[in-house]
Amino acid sequence: IIEALSLHKSYGKHEVLKGLDLSLDRGEVVALIGPSGSGKSTFIRCLNMMEIPTGGTVRFRQKTVGDHFRDKGGEIGIGTLRRHVGMVFQHFNLFPHKTVLQNVTEGPIVVCKTPRKEAEERAMDLLSQVGLAEKHGAYPNHLSGGQKQRVAIARALAMEPEVLLLDEVTSALDPELVGEVLSVIRGLAEKGMTMAIVTHEMAFAADVASRVLFLDQGVIAESGSADQVILNPQNPRLQGFVSRFR
Ligand code: ATP
Ligand code: MG
Repeated sequence: IIEALSLHKSYGKHEVLKGLDLSLDRGEVVALIGPSGSGKSTFIRCLNMMEIPTGGTVRFRQKTVGDHFRDKGGEIGIGTLRRHVGMVFQHFNLFPHKTVLQNVTEGPIVVCKTPRKEAEERAMDLLSQVGLAEKHGAYPNHLSGGQKQRVAIARALAMEPEVLLLDEVTSALDPELVGEVLSVIRGLAEKGMTMAIVTHEMAFAADVASRVLFLDQGVIAESGSADQVILNPQNPRLQGFVSRFR
């Protein structure tokens, strides 16, 4: 459903992504692991064009995505891509002056022109899915980190994405709050949501991901099943990396 072909990204002279390939099938869950600075965030930001790659191609539903493309022929524009590819960040990025419910309905109402009532009904469904229906009137400041992150996930889901990109969504959380967020993501995986997940939670990656990619210095240095990559790594740098999480 989404592909990266020989993706490159440089910031000035600094080449951060050096030709990455990824093809994500519908319903597939891929975990991206790798040391700090290896390019994981840059890579998934390029996948939904929050960062514009400096080389290579992103394809969505077999169509090439382009900066200035209109949706016709074999091409689609960035706006369309972003509408179908949701993203959740490490630091929630909720609107502080909006309630939980307003945070979740904002995208559908503003971007998709969904009638308010319909957007609110759907938002309440999503909030129940993430276990937060009773918090719909609260403001983000009054929530725990784990609750905020679950709201952020509900907000991304409100746009009915076909692909969800998650960038270290548990890294800013206290350890006791990590589990509740991971279990929401596990539930999405079980329902067949297509996801690319950047994570340092090796056990979680091994559990939900059908494939694990090890990014190192801007290339995919190793990829395969979780068993291969996490339990039986071949690349010496990957061996060193996973041993730190044991
Ligand atoms: P972490 O695990 O710490 O989140 P990461 O694998 O996500 O690391 P990236 O955030 O993708 O790494 O960064 C990869 C490299 O690109 C880093 O060296 C970083 O300094 C550089 N970089 C990222 N964004 C920018 C930017 N906007 N301008 C210049 N350099 C950048
Ligand atoms: Mg990162």
